[in-house]
Amino acid sequence: MDKILVTGALGQIGSELTMKLREIYGADHVLATDIRQIESDVVQSGPFEILDVTDGKRMHELAKNFKADTIIHLAALLSATAERNPLFAWNLNMGGLLNALEAAKETQSQLFVPSSIGAFGPSTPKDQTPQVTIQRPTTMYGVNKVAGELLCDYYFCKYGVDARGLRFPGLISYVTPPGGGTTDYAVDIYYQAVKTRSYTSFIDKGTFMDMMYMPDALQAVVQLMEADSDALHHRNAYNVTAMSVDPEMIGAAIRTLLPDFKLDYKVDPIRQAIAESWPNSIDATAAAEEWGFTPIYTLEKMTQDMLQKLKQKVGSK
Ligand code: NAD
Repeated sequence: MDKILVTGALGQIGSELTMKLREIYGADHVLATDIRQIESDVVQSGPFEILDVTDGKRMHELAKNFKADTIIHLAALLSATAERNPLFAWNLNMGGLLNALEAAKETQSQLFVPSSIGAFGPSTPKDQTPQVTIQRPTTMYGVNKVAGELLCDYYFCKYGVDARGLRFPGLISYVTPPGGGTTDYAVDIYYQAVKTRSYTSFIDKGTFMDMMYMPDALQAVVQLMEADSDALHHRNAYNVTAMSVDPEMIGAAIRTLLPDFKLDYKVDPIRQAIAESWPNSIDATAAAEEWGFTPIYTLEKMTQDMLQKLKQKVGSK
């Protein structure tokens, strides 16, 4: 990676990944793009352009003029939002990805495309879900992610596009709020713990899903993209995770530091159904073996850091 174009750079992942890439490769080497522009470190710390990823011609032009050798394609509609507007999700998620693949092909760039634990479905083995297994998701988001993994493989085999991907679990961070996913509760719970000492979860107790702290996710992207191409047997896309948790486990971890924290439930049937169709825990052995994936943050370590950073950010009760 040397000259990097990022799409969806103002979202939950992009706002932190862009800053990390600028730290490593230099501010001028990372062109951040998004469909909107807001006052933010990403916009102020280096080049920024408005880009709607459904506009393939502009994506190609921006990549070519910037002399990009890498495209990090983050713009997408997330699981819960996609389920409310499936046709829009298909057009944005698949149209945007095709444009990114074409731009990567034309500019001979490497391409990073995030997949998700949403690429699995109810018929997938639920515990320690293997790297290669049944993928029959029942959500539009999941259908987009499986189709995306396949399209990336297709462009690699047919055109030699070096497309690589990670199946991200729920990502937890204190910097930018999440954008409408099913695992968003695991971020909200920390904000509310700091602000009000109580949280009403829309995901039920006993519903286990994989999660990872944002610094581990960012490190995984850089490590995967810098890995020797010949070592990658499962390019699109690797299972990655740091923990499998339910709301009670996060509540208990918060209580070790904020003992009066209260957790109750008002389950949202749409997001609960999505969560139940996903694995309880996934197996990340292939990522560890092929390019050295090693997450650092456990639930306890992440909880300490989240609460400390959020107290500074939003103040404590
Ligand atoms: P997000 O919703 O926080 O950010 C998406 C960004 O894309 C936003 O800044 C939005 O303005 C932008 N965008 C929307 N439509 C656009 C368009 N037409 N053109 C250009 N930009 C547009 O999403 P995120 O959490 O940062 O996720 C990024 C990627 O990672 C997605 O593919 C998502 O499926 C995947 N992922 C995220 C998580 C997670 O927990 N955050 C987990 C698994 C996979």
